[in-house]
Amino acid sequence: MKSYKIAILAGDGIGPEIMEEAVKVLKLVEERNDVQFELMPAAFGANAYFECGDAFPEETKAICDQADAILKGPIGLSHEESKKIPIDKQPERGALLPMRRRYNTYANFRPVSLPKGLAHFSPLKPEVIGEGIDLIMVRELVGGLYFGEKEVGVNDKGLRYVKETLEYDEEQIRRILVEAFKLAMRRKKVLHNIHKSNVLKSSVLWNEIAEEVAKDYPEVEVKHILVDAAATLLCLNPGQFDVMVMENMFGDILSDQGGGILGSLGLMPSACQGDEKSYYEPSHGSAPDIAGKNIANPYSMIGSVAMMLENSFGMEAEAKNVWDAMQGVFTDGYSTADLSKPGSGVRMINTTEFGEKVLEKLRKAPKVA
Ligand code: NAD
Repeated sequence: MKSYKIAILAGDGIGPEIMEEAVKVLKLVEERNDVQFELMPAAFGANAYFECGDAFPEETKAICDQADAILKGPIGLSHEESKKIPIDKQPERGALLPMRRRYNTYANFRPVSLPKGLAHFSPLKPEVIGEGIDLIMVRELVGGLYFGEKEVGVNDKGLRYVKETLEYDEEQIRRILVEAFKLAMRRKKVLHNIHKSNVLKSSVLWNEIAEEVAKDYPEVEVKHILVDAAATLLCLNPGQFDVMVMENMFGDILSDQGGGILGSLGLMPSACQGDEKSYYEPSHGSAPDIAGKNIANPYSMIGSVAMMLENSFGMEAEAKNVWDAMQGVFTDGYSTADLSKPGSGVRMINTTEFGEKVLEKLRKAPKVA
C-alpha cells in the first residue's frame, strides 16, 4: 500500500471551513483506494502569528519539510484586521512568500474551468461562453516584483518613496515556459504568451526566451498577447484561450479575473509546483467577509485535493472522480451562495452540505483498479 504524508494548513478566515470538507474527501479517497494518508495539521497564517508571533512557525516548517505534499487553505486578514500585525509579519509576507521561496514552487497552475452545464454561473452571456470555459493559467510564482528587492525611505526632496524591483534571470523564465509548453503539448498545442513588452524590459527578455523555448516545441502554436489586451479578451472571448503563461504579478491579477468570468473565486483551485515539493491551495484569499458563516464554496479547496491526487500521487482516475462529483452536485441543480442569487431557480446549499453531497457522489463513483 502506498503511503503519503500531507501537511494540512487550514489557514485563516474561511480556510478551516473549506479545509474540513476537503479533509473529508481525502479520507474517503483513502477508504476507496489502496493508499494511506498521514495528515499532519499545522498552524500557518494570521492564526499562527497570533498564537506564537510567527505566521510560518518553525514547527510548521518542519512538518512541511517532511510532507510529500502540502494542502494549504487561504490565509490573510481583512484590511483593517491586518493592521494588528507588523507589515513584514503579515500572512503573505510572513508566511506565503517564504513558503514559496522555501520550496521553490515556481510553477503555479490555475485552471479556469466551467463545463457547459454550469455556464449559468458565469456572468458572461451564453453566446460568449459557447461550449463552456476551459483554460489554464500558468503563473511564475517565485520571481518578479513580488520577490524583488524593496526599499522604503525619504528622498533628497524630503518625500517618502518606495522602490520595488522586478527581476528575472533567463533560467527562471525558461523553466516556467518549459512547463507551459509541456502542458500545451498535452492539451490543444496552443500557448498564449502574456507579456507587456511594449513597456517592460522584463517582458522583452521573457519573449526572447519564449522564442528560444518554442524551437523545442515546434508543434505548439505560440500567440503573443499583451496582458492588458488579454484581460479584455478573457471577458469577450475566453474560448480562444487554452494554456496561458505569464509572470508572477500578471498571473495573480488575471487569474482572479478568471474566477470572475466563472462566477466566483470559489471555483478556483490551484497547484504550486517545485522540483522537490508541491503545495496545493485555492487561488483566492481568506474571504473575511463571509468567514464563520458556513456559506463559503469549498470547490476550490476540494479541487486542490483533486490536483494533489493527480500531480503528486499519480491518482488521475480518482482525481477525475472528485471533479465529476463536485460538478455533479451543481448539475443536480444545487448552488452555493457565491454562485447564484436566491430565487434564481437553484437549490442553495451551504459549505457542509456541498461537502456531504460530494461525498455521496464519490461513494457511488466507479472504484479505480
Ligand atoms: P478574497 O479572495 O478573500 O475574496 C474576494 C471575494 O471573493 C470576497 O467577496 C469573498 O467572499 C469571495 N470568495 C473568495 N473565496 C470564496 C469561496 N471559496 N466561496 C465563496 N466566496 C469566496 O480576497 P480579499 O478579500 O481581497 O482578501 C482577503 C485576504 O486574503 C487578504 O488578507 C488577502 O491578502 C488574502 N489572500 C490570500 C491568498 C492566499 O492565501 N493564497 C490569496 C489571495 C488573497
